Amino acid sequence: METITDSKRILVTGGAGFLGSHLCERLVEAGHEVLCVDNFFTGRRRNVAHLLDRPNFELVRHDVTFPLYVEVDQIYNLACPASPIHYQHDPVQTTKTSVHGAINMLGLAKRLKAKILQASTSEVYGDPEIHPQTEGYWGRVNPVGIRACYDEGKRCAETLFFDYWRQHGLRIKVVRIFNTYGPRMLPNDGRVVSNFIVQALRGEDITIYGDGSQTRSFCYVDDLVDGLIRAMHSADDFTGPVNMGNPGEITVAELARKVIELVGASSRLIFRPLPEDDPLRRKPDISLAQTALAWQPTTSLETGLQRTVDYFKQQGTGL
Ligand code: NAD
Ligand code: UDP
Repeated sequence: METITDSKRILVTGGAGFLGSHLCERLVEAGHEVLCVDNFFTGRRRNVAHLLDRPNFELVRHDVTFPLYVEVDQIYNLACPASPIHYQHDPVQTTKTSVHGAINMLGLAKRLKAKILQASTSEVYGDPEIHPQTEGYWGRVNPVGIRACYDEGKRCAETLFFDYWRQHGLRIKVVRIFNTYGPRMLPNDGRVVSNFIVQALRGEDITIYGDGSQTRSFCYVDDLVDGLIRAMHSADDFTGPVNMGNPGEITVAELARKVIELVGASSRLIFRPLPEDDPLRRKPDISLAQTALAWQPTTSLETGLQRTVDYFKQQGTGL
């Protein structure tokens, strides 16, 4: 069986985005030939600027809804906006990115006999009735709501991955990622951790949607990237789906208070309407990742938030 350190040619779609850029960095450091493909919708060239002069890194502008002809051994398929404001901006394109993107990347993997990993999401569980969420739970998604372009797109992508596995014997890994945060989130990303930190640093009010009693469980980016790499190197008969996230559950209001304290801000909490179909509770059951991949997050929320605050501080007042 191959080891994590065997040098490989690796394609990362969405590689200039938040998670993708950290993944590219880790793979380049490990000595792999990394091909980063991105259409720069929510990704930025500056996220991978420090890798551009590395001989084993290449950046290509490409939209995964169109076919791609390259030669690689492994594919991490991360291309897709992840923040609700971004994926709802052009919902048709979001579904196309998930579905056509999956078809194109699976077709590429089939031709190359390459291993392929899908960055799926806890959103496949929708607004869940089961808590914490286990991989066996089929979910509760509104198929016609404003989150459906993302949720159903990702669900359909999972279907495609499993059909390519059953029908064509492809080596697949489906990872359901729960809320992950860290440096290189966009300041205007819209997701809760970056919103709260940026608002606190600017001394602005913190916008809580709803009454702030909804929960999420936040995973620091380094832990998640470690998990993705472990999943890629799991035995060929391990397909997932496997949950990855940090089971530490916290309400949105508690998160706001923690951020205010860390930043030392004088921001007030202000309450805004809860967006449609916003899940009430979310927390991963990670027993499968623990037993099958020997993976679990190790970064505490305080440490991860502090690193993220430091990153946004370095970005300066304009953020
Ligand atoms: P992100 O928005 O920072 O990254 C997505 C990247 O994909 C961006 O660089 C964007 O420009 C690129 N992209 C979008 N559409 C594309 C297209 N058609 N062709 C090529 N590139 C395209 O978000 P992220 O948080 O880094 O998320 C990465 C992946 O992980 C996504 O697939 C997302 O669904 C998944 N995920 C993330 C989280 C999280 O909390 N961060 C949770 C669950 C799932
Ligand atoms: N949220 C909030 N204020 C913000 C941004 C988000 O209260 O400024 C809430 C949002 O309604 C949701 C939670 O924080 O309940 C997480 O939102 P995010 O967009 O980060 O991720 P997702 O809803 O996809 O988990």
